[in-house]
Amino acid sequence: MKKLKVPMGELALIEQIRRGSRRNSPTVPLGIGDDCAILRPPAGREVLVTTDFTLENRHFRRDLHPAESVGHRTLARGLSDLAAMGASPLAAFLSLALPGKMLATKSGQAWVERFFLGLRALGDQYSVPLAGGDTAESPADLILADIILVGTAPLGKSLRRSGAKAGDALYCTGRLGGAAAELAGMFAKGRMARVGATEGHPHLFPEPRIGVGAALLRRGLATGCLDISDGLSTDLTHLCVESGVNAEIDAATVPIHPLAAKLGPEAGLKMALHGGEDYELLFAAPATRKMPRSIAGVEITRIGRLTRRQQRQPQIALVNADGSRRPLEAAGWEHFSAPPARKS
Ligand code: ADP
Ligand code: MG
Repeated sequence: MKKLKVPMGELALIEQIRRGSRRNSPTVPLGIGDDCAILRPPAGREVLVTTDFTLENRHFRRDLHPAESVGHRTLARGLSDLAAMGASPLAAFLSLALPGKMLATKSGQAWVERFFLGLRALGDQYSVPLAGGDTAESPADLILADIILVGTAPLGKSLRRSGAKAGDALYCTGRLGGAAAELAGMFAKGRMARVGATEGHPHLFPEPRIGVGAALLRRGLATGCLDISDGLSTDLTHLCVESGVNAEIDAATVPIHPLAAKLGPEAGLKMALHGGEDYELLFAAPATRKMPRSIAGVEITRIGRLTRRQQRQPQIALVNADGSRRPLEAAGWEHFSAPPARKS
């Protein structure tokens, strides 16, 4: 890719990114400015790495999403993966491709500044420095961002998708379906979302559950865990595949986010079951183990159980209050195909 050759310039942009970034620390003795960053993980801990793309028109729309939200969500995706494994964030890296004409205009420069404001605000909340990255001119009129998160966890103790057992109870954090509901509202309005505070915006400003993941690991509470990025039905399927179990969800217990509940009980439940990008945690624990009602200030809800599997493919059943049951198909939302439709 061509380097940016525009008035603001790549160097000026990097200088700006560098000025806004945290100073070096014992775990990140060298951040932005050299050919590599240097990380020094605390003794007795191992390193976890995750990368996630945030692509214009696939994960956000420049005409609907405030730039701060795009920055926030870019980092939140990676932080949520660390949370799912009980890891503590160490440093973030960002590869960013920007349309050449963006840095040539005041409005484009303002967009980039606000993007970094959003990213940095979330980074500061979890003390994760932006320790490096790369900047290039995008080959199209599209913003492309790839975030790399490095975290640490005690040796051999990370939460995985593969440890859950038949007989375990199934739990989730927070409320589900809010992100899908907020996005549906944004599509319906068809114009830039206006936001004051970041709270109460599950799609625009999701909160990665770093504190919950770390507590689950520290207290040895979870046998298997992952984050709900593609929707409960899809991510529960991942847990079942990796752990070799089936699952049952008690429909009446699924915690539906108020934004989704507003759309009616049926639509609300559908969004809670299949709406992606809630970034809550889904985890299993022995059924006999007492589970707190909240962990790290986040409510925990028991939503079902894992059962023995005899077939090759995992099966998930949705159980109604009257005991009737039906199969729950893995069906995450394909958010950005218009009109919003199910993934095939
Ligand atoms: P090189 O050409 O040696 O890769 P660059 O000029 O690309 O160096 O980057 C200079 C410094 O700025 C490096 O420390 C790099 O990590 C950092 N950097 C470049 N782009 C970004 C970005 N988008 N976000 C954070 N840091 C960046
Ligand atoms: Mg570079």
